[in-house]
Amino acid sequence: MLDWSEPAAPSRQMPPTVVAQTIVVADQTGLGTIDRSGGRVSVDDKRMINCRADVNQLLPLKYKWAWEKYLAGCNNHWMPTEVSMQADIALWKSRDGLTEDERRAIKRNLGFFAASESLVANNIVLAIYRHLTNPECRQYLLRQSFEEAVHTHTFQYIVESLGLDEGELFNMYREVPSITDKAAWALKHTQHLDDPDFRTGTPEADQAFLRDLVAFYVIFEGMWFYTGFAQILSLGRRNKMVGIAEQYQYILRDESIHLNFGIDVINQIKIENPHLWTKAFQDEVRAMVREAAELEAAYGRDTMPRGFLGLNAALCESYMHFIANRRCAQLGLARVFDEAENPFPWMSEAMDLKKEKNFFETRVIEYQNGGALSWE
Ligand code: FE
Ligand code: MN
Repeated sequence: MLDWSEPAAPSRQMPPTVVAQTIVVADQTGLGTIDRSGGRVSVDDKRMINCRADVNQLLPLKYKWAWEKYLAGCNNHWMPTEVSMQADIALWKSRDGLTEDERRAIKRNLGFFAASESLVANNIVLAIYRHLTNPECRQYLLRQSFEEAVHTHTFQYIVESLGLDEGELFNMYREVPSITDKAAWALKHTQHLDDPDFRTGTPEADQAFLRDLVAFYVIFEGMWFYTGFAQILSLGRRNKMVGIAEQYQYILRDESIHLNFGIDVINQIKIENPHLWTKAFQDEVRAMVREAAELEAAYGRDTMPRGFLGLNAALCESYMHFIANRRCAQLGLARVFDEAENPFPWMSEAMDLKKEKNFFETRVIEYQNGGALSWE
């Protein structure tokens, strides 16, 4: 029998409408009215989306994988300006060190990444962050946002070092159709999510949020970036543009964590909300992956109409098929292309880079830490 003499949680004494309002306004963003009488968060209250527990309480941790990725991101800290551009500048300015085809591929590759890093950053900050209602995931998103700023900085540094036309490079996502097509395809999945009235909480809205996660984490960062890395690293293997290639290795190391975080987020949302992962929705995600691979193939043909040593549009297309099947497997989906061989097996070595000793023999970087602070 209920004992009415016990002090009940004050929120339960409020009229139901007030309780509902508190849940929606206070809890989802972390910036709502402070619930002075709310209980402490227990691990079991935490959820990836539509969470009712206070998002301002990091501890107790529920998703250790998110916290570990935050720590791994911090351990991978680097800055583009640490990489010497001397060899790249000499090669870029030389009359015959690079073929016209190589120059075209390099410029388009830089143009694709220059704006894409920014699109990814804006999507995290303005769309994903608001709707991912878990503090340890948000902690990682804050780290990832900074890394995207470092990546955008990289392209600023490359433009400045090589004396490239900044307007040409940063406008390629608007002016080169094969790049515009990819950016526009991804943007259509985020456009309604940054609408201030967009709310998760219905199956339709939650699936829209999942589509955005797939478009940006799995496809943009997990598929299109990988062919972009392969192009530059393939040149680096031939001792061309070794500074940019080294920077791309660092970006690749960051992006492999971004991708794996996105995959873990999607899979965890699936576990907590199995009703969203219907057969129809799975087919839709597989269709998105297939469509994205076709856009990448078109970009490859446009970027490398003839190809050059070790790299051409056909190789990039089969690499994309290999990657697409892998991403499907990571999401627990059937593959979308025939079993494809990896034409760039060296890409996996490029990912296992240790900062103090990578294959370009870069120097060890010491960061200023607490013990080294100077107050002069
Ligand atoms: Fe990035
Ligand atoms: Mn990223």
